[in-house]
Amino acid sequence: MKKCGDCKKEKGAKERVYTFKKCMVKPGAKVDLDAIDTKETYGWTKRRARVQTGRNLERIAELQEQLYVEKKRGLLIVLQAMDTGGKDGTIRTLGKALNPAGTRVATFKKPTDEEQEHHFLWRIIKQLPKAGEVVIFNRSHYEDVGVVRVHDLVPEEEVRARYDEINAFEEKLAQGAADIPEGTHVLKFFLHISKKEQLARFRDRLDDPAKQWKLSENDFKERQHWDEYMEVYSRALSKCSTDDAPWFVVPADNKWMRDLVISQVVVDYLEALSMKPPAPTVDVKDIRKKYFNDVARRPQNPPPPENPPRHRPPRQGFGLR
Ligand code: ATP
Ligand code: MG
Repeated sequence: MKKCGDCKKEKGAKERVYTFKKCMVKPGAKVDLDAIDTKETYGWTKRRARVQTGRNLERIAELQEQLYVEKKRGLLIVLQAMDTGGKDGTIRTLGKALNPAGTRVATFKKPTDEEQEHHFLWRIIKQLPKAGEVVIFNRSHYEDVGVVRVHDLVPEEEVRARYDEINAFEEKLAQGAADIPEGTHVLKFFLHISKKEQLARFRDRLDDPAKQWKLSENDFKERQHWDEYMEVYSRALSKCSTDDAPWFVVPADNKWMRDLVISQVVVDYLEALSMKPPAPTVDVKDIRKKYFNDVARRPQNPPPPENPPRHRPPRQGFGLR
C-alpha cells in the first residue's frame, strides 16, 4: 500500500507513517471542521475499503497480541463525535479484531456528583490503559472543553487553561512510568458527520423498531447547537493535536470510510512500533529435542479415528457488511 507521512520516530521504532496523513491534524495547524468534507473518500470505493478494513482488522489482531505479551506500553483510542456520529459502530468494528482479554471500553457521560467534586481528569486517569492494554474511550476529557463551553458550564478562561493541562497530561502519558515503561500513546478520532447525515440517521432510528430505543430528546436539543459544537471542536482539535497524541478528523458520513481510516491508523501506529516477542523463558533446544523424541516414539501411520473430525471451512474474515 502507498504510504506517505510526516511522523515522529519512537525509541527503537520505525519511522511512523500514516496512510491517511490528510486526516491527521498537524500539530499547531488550525482546524475548521466546517471546511472538511464529511463524505471524503480519498478515491476509495466501498468494496475496496471493506476488503482493506478486513485486512487491517486481521493485522490489528496480530499486533494487539504483541502489545499484550510485550507489556511495555498502552494504547488509548479516543472517540469523539456528535450524536449518531458512529462511536458505537467504531467500537463494534474494532471489537472484531481486539482480544477482549487485553481491551477495555470506558464511556464518559455527564459527570456524576462525585465526579463533579474532582478535577476533570480524575475520572479519566482511573480508566487509563495498563501495560499491554488497549482502552477505547467513548467520549473523553474532550467533553470538558467541548460540551461545557457550548452550554457555558465552565468559564472560558478555565477551559483555555484546560487545553494546556490536557496537552501536558497526554505528553506525560507518552513518557511512561515504572509500571508502563514505554508509556501510553493516544490516538484521537473525531468522527465527522454532516448535520444532514445526522438527520438521516435519526430517521433510520425512527423507522426501525429495533433502533427506536436509541432515540433521545436530548439528541434533538444538542442538534440545535450544531454550529457551536463545530466551533468548540475545531478549537480543541487545533490546540491539542501533538505527535504523541494526534487528532484525526475522520470523514464519517460513510461508515465504510470511517472504519477504513480508523483501522488503518491503528495498524500504521502499531506497525511502526516494531514490537518484538519477549525472549523464551525455557531452553527451546531442549524442548525441541523432547518433542522429536516423543514424535519418534509414536507408532507410524496410526489408524484413522472412528469418527473423523468434520472438515471445517477456512475462516471467512471478519464478517464485514
Ligand atoms: P448514545 O447516544 O449513542 O447512547 P452518547 O455518548 O451520546 O451515546 P448519551 O447518554 O446520549 O450518550 O449522552 C451523554 C452526554 O453526556 C452527552 O451529551 C455528553 O456531551 C455528556 N457529557 C459527557 N461528558 C460530559 C462532561 N464532562 N460535562 C458535561 N456533559 C458531559
Ligand atoms: Mg446521545
